[in-house]
Amino acid sequence: MSQELELFRQSLHRFLDQEVAPHYHEWEEAGLIPRDVWKTLGRAGFLCVDMPIEYGGCGGDFNMSAIVVEILSQRGYAALATNVSVHSDIVAPYIAHLGNEEQKSQWLPKLASGDAVGAIAMTEPGAGSDLQAMKCQAKKVDGGYSISGQKTFITNGQHADVCIVAAKTDVNAGAKGISLFLLQKSDQGYDVGTNLKKIGQHSGDTSELFFNEVFAKEPLGELNKGFMHLMNELPRERLILSIGAIGACIGMLDMTVEYVKQRQIFGQALSDLQNTRFVLAHLDTQLSVSQAFIQQCIGLYENQQLTAAMASKAKLSSTELQCQLADDCLQLFGGYGYMEEYPIARAFLDARVQRIYGGASEVMKEIIARDLIGK
Ligand SMILES: Cc1cc2nc3c(=O)[nH]c(=O)nc-3n(C[C@H](O)[C@H](O)[C@H](O)COP(=O)(O)OP(=O)(O)OC[C@H]3O[C@@H](n4cnc5c(N)ncnc54)[C@H](O)[C@@H]3O)c2cc1C
Repeated sequence: MSQELELFRQSLHRFLDQEVAPHYHEWEEAGLIPRDVWKTLGRAGFLCVDMPIEYGGCGGDFNMSAIVVEILSQRGYAALATNVSVHSDIVAPYIAHLGNEEQKSQWLPKLASGDAVGAIAMTEPGAGSDLQAMKCQAKKVDGGYSISGQKTFITNGQHADVCIVAAKTDVNAGAKGISLFLLQKSDQGYDVGTNLKKIGQHSGDTSELFFNEVFAKEPLGELNKGFMHLMNELPRERLILSIGAIGACIGMLDMTVEYVKQRQIFGQALSDLQNTRFVLAHLDTQLSVSQAFIQQCIGLYENQQLTAAMASKAKLSSTELQCQLADDCLQLFGGYGYMEEYPIARAFLDARVQRIYGGASEVMKEIIARDLIGK
């Protein structure tokens, strides 16, 4: 790792020691990360790290940006990692890649500073994996579009000032009739619903959103090309989820190794039992293999060569490993692993959704199989 990346890593750890570690438990209890945290992160330079400097970013590369999500996940701040990755690694790149100059200069500097929070709303109660079934509609009106519909499970929905909304602009054209729009929380007809209660990532902001004839002057990107835009951006989303999964695995393995060394059982350390040693050795090996593959995918992404199938393999393999590793590690903690006050319990619950959002594991398998078989 370059010296620059190492310094970035160290300063992020120092920041988390001061600004997050003393409060994270409290935020989990409260069920929401306070809005001010976004400004604190932005001012410290930990949002939109790979955004160009002219738009307020740090001008770093993807490797540097990914460190934020990896370390947040490694330290067990999964809810914050999810919220930040949607903001910095999904919403900001969409606007940077698809936005016109007005859209970029209006939002990118604010996203980088934390003065604005970003969200992306595709999922609806009747349309998750099957996005083409979405009902949210954007009707052509004088001077723009009028958007009406309902979205659910939207990360950053409570705090988001700007939301990329997928809506049908041609209801008869299937995937070719979807467009993206940038809507603002302050827009008339934009309503934020409940912050949904989850089994893990308790402080994560996950909400319903309602749009009632919200006006937008123009789409983000091209009209009726929304589905194609989503497909183009999804590899980065899946890669960043994989990087979070690797971070979480490192964190869980570290805490388990520490625990089994000090836990006494049958007159010896739990780490002296052959089962413990084999379980941990197996997990560590799988983690090393997965890390090497994800690193390869990062290289491909940086050279604009990360395909949908490779990104799907990354997400499938790393998130399945994360859930398996969480279960195996928790088992070594015995009853203590089932107690909420033990970080392994929180990590176990936080992990589960990784196999669902950003495309369920089964959807990843479909994409990989299509690439392999050709249909
Ligand atoms: C905490 C959280 C945060 C989220 N954040 C966002 C967000 O910011 N923005 C957003 O738009 N969405 C978000 N989502 C939604 C998420 O992307 C969807 O939940 C996910 O795509 C699955 O859709 P669904 O829940 O409707 O499940 P369904 O589509 O109903 O799928 C249910 C199950 O069916 C199976 N399945 C699905 N497709 C196939 C297939 N092709 N072949 C075989 N089996 C299949 C899978 O096992 C899947 O889990 C979030 C969800 C959660 C839980």
